[in-house]
Amino acid sequence: MSISNELSFSSSLIKYLHNPYALESYINNKCSAVCAHVSPEGSCNLECSYCQVKKTTNRLELRTIKKFIDSLSRNGLKSVILTGGGEPLLYPEINELIKYIKKNNLKLGIITNGTLFTRLDDISISSFEWIRISINNPILNCVNILNDLKKQLHRIPKTCNIGISYVCGTNIVKLEEKINKILSITNECNIDYVRISTDRFLSVKEMNDIKVKITNVLSNIDKSKIMLTDKLYKAPCSNVCHRSYFKPYLSEIPYDEYTNGSILPCGCVVHGRDNVDIKKYMLCKPDEILKFVNKNICFPFSPNTLCDKCEYSDIIDTLEYLTESNIIHKEFL
Ligand code: SF4
Ligand code: SF4
Repeated sequence: MSISNELSFSSSLIKYLHNPYALESYINNKCSAVCAHVSPEGSCNLECSYCQVKKTTNRLELRTIKKFIDSLSRNGLKSVILTGGGEPLLYPEINELIKYIKKNNLKLGIITNGTLFTRLDDISISSFEWIRISINNPILNCVNILNDLKKQLHRIPKTCNIGISYVCGTNIVKLEEKINKILSITNECNIDYVRISTDRFLSVKEMNDIKVKITNVLSNIDKSKIMLTDKLYKAPCSNVCHRSYFKPYLSEIPYDEYTNGSILPCGCVVHGRDNVDIKKYMLCKPDEILKFVNKNICFPFSPNTLCDKCEYSDIIDTLEYLTESNIIHKEFL
């Protein structure tokens, strides 16, 4: 896959440099949120045995999401990604939510299991800049997703980029069959890219072994649409997650028993962390989002000690250096 496509379809540092106004706002302790994750729904319609998400009956109230979007879109927000938690297309007011986001002139992406597009009306399904379908077990899910997606393709504009994300865990039995199943969808459904990554909760050795096996399987096939991500999972050096100011995450997980939803720093802290107290990562209540992004709330935890498998540590540490005010001779590139 070309480097510009890889950078377009992933969360890369280059994108921060393309938003210089946000970097400047960040340095000046003003709102720098360019993109927001919204996880409206804690439940899911599937019951994958390998699911890393703790599914719940938690759900964001529509007015919580609207207030969050209003606050940030008045202060420079450009885009929203609907994600989970559970499955965002299961959210009862999904059509109203999508229309509200578009009414605020925000670009929209979604990460979904790809099985519930029929819940979207014609306007909603044509509202996405991109759709990413997460397939966790291609052998089980691909046929259904393929059939559902094929029926919906005529309602999705050609300008919308559709991608598939496959996280490969230790179960690499039939790996070739799994990858071939994904490629069959790619070819039949105008998929723009397939992102294959390894489960970041495995050891480095396990991840490397799996990468070798994937590379072997891929050696004989056309890789023009495939991204095999080679991320370094490690704790940032920083004691602040700078990324969370540019891309806050509105979660359906309640901040406390009186509050609907919470603001988290990213989605990584939700996934695969059954034993971890998510409250340690909570940044603030949803209605305090402007206080947080304007840096009127102290960052509550140290990523250096709590985020040992961060996939964005390079972005976070670079943002720290970039916004470091003590650097002199900046004109001498
Ligand atoms: S689709 Fe995703 S969230 Fe739903 S059960 Fe499967 S892995 Fe979990
Ligand atoms: S895992 Fe990374 S992106 Fe998420 S809160 Fe920790 S440092 Fe930030």
